[in-house]
Amino acid sequence: MWQVVGQHRVVSLLQRSLEKGVVAHAYLLVGPPHVGKMTLALNLAQALNCEADKPPCGECASCQKIALDKHADVQIIGLTQNRDSAEAKPRVEISIDQIRQMQHSASLPPFEGRHKAFIIDQAERLSTEAANCLLKTLEEPVAKVIFILLATNDRLLPATVVSRCQRLELPPIAATEVEATLNSGWGIEPQRAKLLARLCHGCLGWAVSAALDDDLLKLRAQRIERLVDIADADCEERFAYAAQLAAQFSQNRGLVQEELDLWLDWWRDLLLIKAGCRDIITNVDLEASLIEVAGSYSLAQIKAVISSIQAAGKQLRQNANPRLVLEVLMLDIPRRRCVSVKYG
Ligand SMILES: [Zn+2]
Repeated sequence: MWQVVGQHRVVSLLQRSLEKGVVAHAYLLVGPPHVGKMTLALNLAQALNCEADKPPCGECASCQKIALDKHADVQIIGLTQNRDSAEAKPRVEISIDQIRQMQHSASLPPFEGRHKAFIIDQAERLSTEAANCLLKTLEEPVAKVIFILLATNDRLLPATVVSRCQRLELPPIAATEVEATLNSGWGIEPQRAKLLARLCHGCLGWAVSAALDDDLLKLRAQRIERLVDIADADCEERFAYAAQLAAQFSQNRGLVQEELDLWLDWWRDLLLIKAGCRDIITNVDLEASLIEVAGSYSLAQIKAVISSIQAAGKQLRQNANPRLVLEVLMLDIPRRRCVSVKYG
């Protein structure tokens, strides 16, 4: 049974390919973080090596080994820190050495299964040399070897690499499906499942992590507190915050995007409160604070901030200077009338 949740279209496509024996030699799974790309990749590796009649069974020795990352023929290649002698800071990327090791391993026959599967996580962070090296492998398919690239933003991958893979998009899952899965599959109590389903924006993996680790929700509360406080801050504080975020961006783009997504949720919720649509807000646990803050802004101000956050996100994705983008965004957040807010 496929364990990935909500990706019915992609799963049925892969299932048909498996049944017809026409599995591609390379797939590119594209979707937001935590949407289920790794689960699907592991499921596909299981399906190719499963010992049961209806693969992937999830129970045979092969399926279990793959789930535990203990199967000799299934490898996950991820980010490592690399540093040239001339560079002060290490680069976090997938290096050419990792791809060369993978190629060597791919040239050997399967050790214990029927197929070798190489899963390249965060493939958009292949170094240029690594991507060029991988391209040669993708151009010369080998029987019983499959490559599964996972990416959040495949526009950051060379078009030559993308064109040699079968591209499958994993869209966010419906909130109702996340809520039901959290409830029935993970035993999360209904109120908490509802909150996590709204907060995760269709990415079940994030909701499950937050359900198991309270720190994620605490971190969210701190970020929102900071976000509300920035509206009362002077230029100096706002620029200091922009500089801090820009520094984070150079190390981990995803973290800053998460922060902007959080802001967007907050300001969209303020808009929904203003419009009298409380039922569909994301931050259901902070409704009282949202109502209080919404009273400090006009509808036009809230709409303008939402546009600014969206513009900043777009510019960052287009590789604009992060510090400049974030400074402009900071200046676009209007001061609010003096009210005190309690955070949930
Ligand atoms: Zn199995």
